[in-house]
Amino acid sequence: MSKLFNLSIEDKLATTHFEIDSKPHIWIKDQEICRKCNEKPCQIGCPAKLYEWNEDSREMMYNYEGCLECGTCLLICPYENIHWDYPAGGKGVVYRFG
Ligand code: SF4
Ligand code: SF4
Repeated sequence: MSKLFNLSIEDKLATTHFEIDSKPHIWIKDQEICRKCNEKPCQIGCPAKLYEWNEDSREMMYNYEGCLECGTCLLICPYENIHWDYPAGGKGVVYRFG
């Protein structure tokens, strides 16, 4: 079995690094929809905690640079309000084992 399955999420985060793509691979399509989204599950579901509601600006803030490419946010957004692609080839998260 791969070592991947024996690691906690904290362990996985500790064994990763990122090749940052200058072009975001995630963005929120419409902040107005986020304002109406009561539960805001992206904040809870993202294991890297990349989504954070800003009450002052009433916008969902997000950061693509630490994305683990798990796809959770795409699945749990009830309004399909997140655009998500894999980063360009060779960019994004790099898992290291061994
Ligand atoms: S789950 Fe989707 S609609 Fe709701 S706050 Fe997050 S990005 Fe916006
Ligand atoms: S793909 Fe995973 S790590 Fe990346 S922003 Fe979505 S939930 Fe967070």
